Amino acid sequence: MTSGNQVARGWQKLSSTLVSQARPAGQKGGTSINYPLTRGSTVVFPTLEDFRHKGRERYNHEYIYGAMGTPTQHELEKAIATLEGGKDCQVVSSGLAACTVPLLAFMKAGDHLLLPDSVYSPTRRFAENTLKRFGVETTFYPPQADSKTLQALFKPTTRILFTESPGSHTFEVQDIPMLARLAHENDALLMLDNTWGFGIFAPFEHGVDVSIQALTKYASGHSDVIAGAITVNTTEHWHVLRDAAIELGQLAGPDDCWLTLRGLRTMGVRLAHQSQAALQLAEWLQTRPEVETVLHPALPTCPGHELWKRDFTGAGSLFGVVLKAGYTQESMETMIDALQFFGIGASWGGYESLILPTSGSLTRTHEASTDGAGPSFRLQIGLENLEDLQADLEKAFSHLSLKR
Ligand SMILES: *Cc1c(COP(=O)(O)O)cnc(C)c1O
Repeated sequence: MTSGNQVARGWQKLSSTLVSQARPAGQKGGTSINYPLTRGSTVVFPTLEDFRHKGRERYNHEYIYGAMGTPTQHELEKAIATLEGGKDCQVVSSGLAACTVPLLAFMKAGDHLLLPDSVYSPTRRFAENTLKRFGVETTFYPPQADSKTLQALFKPTTRILFTESPGSHTFEVQDIPMLARLAHENDALLMLDNTWGFGIFAPFEHGVDVSIQALTKYASGHSDVIAGAITVNTTEHWHVLRDAAIELGQLAGPDDCWLTLRGLRTMGVRLAHQSQAALQLAEWLQTRPEVETVLHPALPTCPGHELWKRDFTGAGSLFGVVLKAGYTQESMETMIDALQFFGIGASWGGYESLILPTSGSLTRTHEASTDGAGPSFRLQIGLENLEDLQADLEKAFSHLSLKR
């Protein structure tokens, strides 16, 4: 399997950086290898002049007031900016806030937004409800649209071309350099929800202007934190983003930042294992008679597989499975209920395997490729023994039944 090594290679290469980067700078010997946790609202200064001066330092990750971030948050911001390959990062209260804050920061009434049909559904609802109320118009585009189709959707008012690659339900990999070229030719910004590609897709090398992370997923990694991050690569973008984050009262609690800094240090080894286990299960699922197709970017059957091969240094732990036409939704739901090792629940990126049905989102975006296909589900692969996961799925598949 040619993709077998590629899914884990990026994570293995990243591991030394991840393990060592959270070490407090300039401290050697006799100090903890972990960051101190700083909780606090008020910060006091020796003189009024110092206090006033500090207030002007808001772009410099300085400790001014708890609502502008603690030293623990600022260390996490430095770590994420490094991993994303950008200049500055703002940590916010959730992955969803990491999507909504930059949309609010960079748009105004009368602007136009392009969102992929495959976008994370709370981001879609934010555009359809909140942004609409504030006078921003949204057009949805097919995630596999070519440059000609996309160019026709741009308006003089288009301010942001948003992408999520691969889509977290439907897994189309998008051509980011092409999208960047189009966005910039049309005086728009390219904003990427890079949650699946964290650590294995370099957003700024591919032309992205704003990269979004749900730290809730791989970075924290233990299903016990909700946090997000927004990274930019120019001073101009940083000032716009930072001012908006402060005006919107956005931050993440120091405990969550500390847990995420700790999670980062094991992310390489977790994801090297999880990405390989996920690909092995995906390949096995492809051989099953019940399965129509497996939507995993490292498999040739996935829309945009060639782009994944070109642009990514690894793969994630999340992929989709489409059953053959004729299997009933009800029997798939019985199958899901019968699983022992796969939890039923939202989110992903932690150490437990998870499953959720995805049938609705697939019919919206993959009409051509899944025409007439059966119901579908999404798997997140955790740290359990691969053989147990495979046996669990095999046993549960016996509940699948065909329409009469
Ligand atoms: C989970 C997720 C988010 C939102 O993250 P939360 O921390 O749960 O708000 C955003 N984008 C993608 C692609 C996600 O999978």
